[in-house]
Amino acid sequence: MQNSSDLEDISGLNVQFVMPYGSNGGQSDLLVEAIIRTIAEFHGHEGEWADKYGTDIDNEWFMMHHFCWCESETCSWCRETDPLPNFHYKPLDFKVNWYKYIGRSMNYNKELTPLECADMLKNCIQTP
Ligand SMILES: [Zn+2]
Repeated sequence: MQNSSDLEDISGLNVQFVMPYGSNGGQSDLLVEAIIRTIAEFHGHEGEWADKYGTDIDNEWFMMHHFCWCESETCSWCRETDPLPNFHYKPLDFKVNWYKYIGRSMNYNKELTPLECADMLKNCIQTP
């Protein structure tokens, strides 16, 4: 148990609050990761490990492309300027990038509500 002098000692320090991602209203990384892995697995091909790396598909609802290692400036996913996302949900213009594996160092262009996430999953696993 801390005594009052311990509490006084931290008064000059920077304090970082660590809260579960999404607890302040933002979307959950884990929810988005689970949805994208599910979509990838649904559309993936045998031996592709789509639920891990993603798969390549482009339809009226979404585009997905696995992480590309080619590092060519002419590659749409590797070029320095305005590379394409690994996942693009077209109705909401929601774009996600990841590093090698779905869920690793993911970046989004916006945050979705849980209901928007649920709709996205439903719409992305209906299409052929
Ligand atoms: Zn590439």
